[in-house]
Amino acid sequence: MRIAVLKERAAGESRVAMTPETVKKFIALGATVAVEEGAGAGASIPDEAFSEAGAEVLAGKKAVAGADIVLGVQAPEVAALSGAKDGAWVAATFDPFRNGELVEAYAKAGFEALSMEFMPRITRAQSMDVLSSQSNLAGYKAVIASADEYGRAFPMMMTAAGTVQAAKCFVMGVGVAGLQAIATAKRLGAQVSATDVRSATKEQIMSLGAKPVFVESVEGIEGEGSGGYATEMSEEYQKAQAELVSSHIAKQDIVITTALIPGRPAPRLISDAQIATMKPGSVIFDLAVARGGNVEGSKPDETVVKHGVKIIGFSNTSAHLAADASALFARNLYNFLSAFWDQDAGKPVLDEEIGDAVRLTQGGKVVNERLTAQ
Ligand code: NAD
Repeated sequence: MRIAVLKERAAGESRVAMTPETVKKFIALGATVAVEEGAGAGASIPDEAFSEAGAEVLAGKKAVAGADIVLGVQAPEVAALSGAKDGAWVAATFDPFRNGELVEAYAKAGFEALSMEFMPRITRAQSMDVLSSQSNLAGYKAVIASADEYGRAFPMMMTAAGTVQAAKCFVMGVGVAGLQAIATAKRLGAQVSATDVRSATKEQIMSLGAKPVFVESVEGIEGEGSGGYATEMSEEYQKAQAELVSSHIAKQDIVITTALIPGRPAPRLISDAQIATMKPGSVIFDLAVARGGNVEGSKPDETVVKHGVKIIGFSNTSAHLAADASALFARNLYNFLSAFWDQDAGKPVLDEEIGDAVRLTQGGKVVNERLTAQ
């Protein structure tokens, strides 16, 4: 079983899908590992560290030659896979709802695309879940980047020259990223409040010592919904939410938005008129900016100033923490493949529950129900 890792080719992608730690672990399972030269540079992992761990470090296309499995952070174009074995597996993020052409190309080329975003949200797959590991770091980075842009301090400080007031931070969307944003803002000393459409998050917000701010007049999503994800809300709910946000947001210094709906553009949570009610110097970080944005006017990788409020957001937030993000991503991939490793067969053999969930293409066809049902 030969596993290959290519240098990421997408613009701004600094992560890598394997680390020296997981190289050793894959070799211990009986695999050989090939890493493209320079693959770890963006994550501060030199080629020597990969060789010392036992990987063959090879230039360009040689890395992928004869591979049974190719690992990636963002799935490579099919052209970069030439030389891999027929029917090779490619485990990476595919962004399948937005990358239909890429998925089709994988089918046509006979590769088996395994989309890590489609990992089911079940207990045994938690350690394989790249969305969680990357969102967690992104939630942290959003607060740190906002603190950096904010011209004031986060914690209350009593000084001889007078008191510095604590920043008020509002987190919208309390999934994995939102929870980490709340925890980080609390640690920095901000007064934190948070909201979500899923009522199950109320208790989680309070357990982190933050204040829940919820629409009470219209019912939100009870329980965990489908796999714990949100859906699009009714017009009535959206109106009630907009009113609630309008009255709350004017008093906030920092707003972190994280709301996402799988397979849909991000819901719009903050309008330009609402931004206009905020104090000049306030900062909004739109973690959903690459998915269409939660905030009117936000632009990926730009600082947009509207009504004196700075609106920021990165196109790839976890890539701003490339070393930790790669370490966790690489472990997710290792946990996934090793959980299914069949010692007799000397390769992973996927089961239906997880295999069918993540497999996009097989035998020349697109086979994933979430794509074929569209
Ligand atoms: P996500 O990234 O899809 O969305 C972020 C948050 O935005 C969610 O909490 C969502 O409810 C919220 N949101 C959506 N529309 C909104 C709106 N209009 N207004 C306000 N908030 C809105 O979510 P996620 O971080 O992937 O997590 C979703 C859930 O899945 C969580 O409950 C999480 O604990 C659970 N989860 C389970 C597992 C597992 O069991 N393996 C793994 C990861 C996450």
